[in-house]
Amino acid sequence: MRFIKEDTHIINLLDLNKDDISKITTNKGYPGYRAGQIYKWLYRGIHDISSMTDLSEALRLELSSEYGIILPEAVSKQVSETDGTIKYLMALGDGNIIESVLMKYDYGYSACISSQAGCRMGCLFCASTGAGFIRSLTAGEMTGQILAMQEDSGQKAGNVVIMGIGEPFDNYENTIKFLRNANDPDGLGLGYRKLTVSTCGLVPGILRFAREGIPVNLSVSLHAAEDSKRSFLMPVNRSYSIDKIIEACKIYTKATGRRITFEYAMIKGVNDSISDASALAALLRGLLCHVNIIRLNDVEGTGLRKTDRENIMRFRSIIADAGITVTVRRELGTDIEAACGQLRRKTTGKY
Ligand code: SAH
Repeated sequence: MRFIKEDTHIINLLDLNKDDISKITTNKGYPGYRAGQIYKWLYRGIHDISSMTDLSEALRLELSSEYGIILPEAVSKQVSETDGTIKYLMALGDGNIIESVLMKYDYGYSACISSQAGCRMGCLFCASTGAGFIRSLTAGEMTGQILAMQEDSGQKAGNVVIMGIGEPFDNYENTIKFLRNANDPDGLGLGYRKLTVSTCGLVPGILRFAREGIPVNLSVSLHAAEDSKRSFLMPVNRSYSIDKIIEACKIYTKATGRRITFEYAMIKGVNDSISDASALAALLRGLLCHVNIIRLNDVEGTGLRKTDRENIMRFRSIIADAGITVTVRRELGTDIEAACGQLRRKTTGKY
């Protein structure tokens, strides 16, 4: 069965890791290697335990009464005419709706997945906030978005970014479980460096992540170098101010040796002046980091506008002249509202 409703007692095998599955098979009295066989099948595009053909009929039946493979269902999709980006509306098992995006780059496809149905962070410029918060996604619901997109498109995602709807560090354990399954050679088999987590700056999450021992890429959405501006744009800054974020980032880079990417969406007349650029350069001086400038994507009703291109180039030069590596993110999927901050599916199940 492809789409199982929440009122069933079926547990989604995609929510489990190898150890979880080992416990199940051991409890049922099966030899240890069965768990590895089951785990591998989950990532081979099957929808049903009965397709696990190297298991005995008895084990398949036994498992099917308690477990299933529950994938989000792609209920609609839009393909960008300009760059081939595909935006999917996905229905979760309980009818909640999220969005996921498959982006095409020169080096292959990159999947952008949601970590929550809705978001409670309230960033002024982001459409996902407008849809309210319903619940966090399970690890399997994150994996399932990738499997469903791969199946529909026939393309393998070589990179995954958790930059869709939601705040991954507000769903910490499930995010980590997902990342480990994504990295497992028998799971999605993606190197840690092919995986990126993006946070709005939840300091306890950054500190915990520093100790996690998984070398994935970390992006921090900064968007302003000064507290009053950042608090205006991102209410979360009232709890975790810029100083605290930078302090946590230093601990992170020291513990992991990994460079942090700071995202900076440029908003006309708000954070795009020469003094904003100088403040950003001063803030980040000496930190192992990279700045990624995003041209604000329009979101109706926010009153915020994207910066002119000349401004972006001027801003970029100031950062670069301070010795900080800086890139301007390519805009993908803007014609289908699939770009950063434009994902906002309501989660009522009506689509
Ligand atoms: N909650 C996480 C991940 C989701 S947002 C985070 O805040 O990082 C992914 C990225 O898109 C973030 O950098 C976010 O700030 C950015 N973003 C949100 N709305 C945007 C918009 N309208 N234009 C450009 N980028 C936006």
